[in-house]
Amino acid sequence: MTDMKQYDFIVIGGGIIGLATARQLQLQFQGATVAVLEKEKELATHQTRHNSGVIHAGVYYAPGSLKARFCRDGNRETKQFCSEQGIPFRETGKLLVATDEQDAERMQELLERCRINKIETEVLDQQQLREFEPNVVGVAATWVPSSGIVDFEQVANKLAEQIRAAGGEIHTNCLVTELKETTGIEVKSSLGNFSGRFLLACAGLHADRLVRMIGQQPTFKILPFRGEYFQLPAEKSRIVTHPIYPIPNPELPFLGIHLTPMIDGSLTVGPNATLAMSREGYSRWKISPRDLAEMLSYSGLYRLVMKYPLPTLLELKNSLYRPGYLKQVNRYCPKITLSDLLPYPAGVRAQAVKPDGTTLDDFLFIESERSLIVGNAPSPAATSAMPIARHICEQVGRLIN
Ligand SMILES: Cc1cc2nc3c(=O)[nH]c(=O)nc-3n(C[C@H](O)[C@H](O)[C@H](O)COP(=O)(O)OP(=O)(O)OC[C@H]3O[C@@H](n4cnc5c(N)ncnc54)[C@H](O)[C@@H]3O)c2cc1C
Repeated sequence: MTDMKQYDFIVIGGGIIGLATARQLQLQFQGATVAVLEKEKELATHQTRHNSGVIHAGVYYAPGSLKARFCRDGNRETKQFCSEQGIPFRETGKLLVATDEQDAERMQELLERCRINKIETEVLDQQQLREFEPNVVGVAATWVPSSGIVDFEQVANKLAEQIRAAGGEIHTNCLVTELKETTGIEVKSSLGNFSGRFLLACAGLHADRLVRMIGQQPTFKILPFRGEYFQLPAEKSRIVTHPIYPIPNPELPFLGIHLTPMIDGSLTVGPNATLAMSREGYSRWKISPRDLAEMLSYSGLYRLVMKYPLPTLLELKNSLYRPGYLKQVNRYCPKITLSDLLPYPAGVRAQAVKPDGTTLDDFLFIESERSLIVGNAPSPAATSAMPIARHICEQVGRLIN
């Protein structure tokens, strides 16, 4: 590769994790040159733009996991960053609603996790729940005061502004196609060649491909799970005033369809979780022959489906049959009707799945001598972006010394 632009650090991916990492590199390694390479025309185009916008508190995550630690710290740091930078956010708190006895039992397990993870909670009985949210029904609920809402794209754009102000470069329309590890890293892209002392890859839905590009064999594959949302009509946007979540099935990796007040004042319902036929398949029928062929030839896909045959079928049915989707919301909010479900853009989650069909639960990072690749950063990674970036920079400090 000739005519290379030289940097200390090259960061692939202009989502919230790549941008938070690039900014943290500038802070930790004063004077270092940093370039962010993003394949899309705009930053934050994928998961960072298409999500629920919830600053999670850390309710669900296994004690001792990176998710538990980074989410709790990220909750505080995201709010602090937004306060300092004038980004609108609200500390709404959130309600987890138990609709039957099985939910109530599972809620006890979540409460125990919260206790261990040091997340403040309050239990509401049926009557207190009715007073709190008159349009929500359940046998009991858990109130989590520290949850909040924000537009993560605004957070990402502010980080980009800071990166540029500190002398960093951000190249959009820059698809990275080849990597070569030498005493540093050589990068081939649609905008030409770059070279760096060290490479960070925060490529979301393409994480496993970056692992392969650096010459390693990933121990997982990213499977794309579409999350379909609806928006409620303006006259129903105050039907609830807090994010309302069901009690999730602990065996499944996703949180269930919830009601979320957005920072722009609207109210969304969603997301569900169905397999997508394209890693960036925002519409149901978008097919990428490459993505689909890779998925269909992966044993982990079939083993995942065999593990959860009923939830897989139900999610598919409810995606195609709107009354089925509505039924899940009506369990805790009966006042929403079919005609209230107005179109809203879907998101696609990058979920790492192992060949045996298990979903990788925790955040995962893959190292080589000259690179660090984010392998798995599903929810709550937007909330956790700043602690993740700090963790990455700590590892970089160790690897380059
Ligand atoms: C439906 C949904 C709901 C969610 N809700 C929440 C929530 O409420 N709260 C929360 O904390 N988290 C939530 N998440 C998770 C959160 O959005 C993601 O974990 C987070 O945005 C991941 O950020 P990222 O930077 O890793 O990925 P992305 O935002 O996807 O960014 C990766 C970037 O890498 C670029 N890229 C990939 N390959 C290349 C290449 N070869 N060359 C150049 N560029 C490349 C992509 O174009 C992309 O811009 C949700 C996610 C989804 C999908």
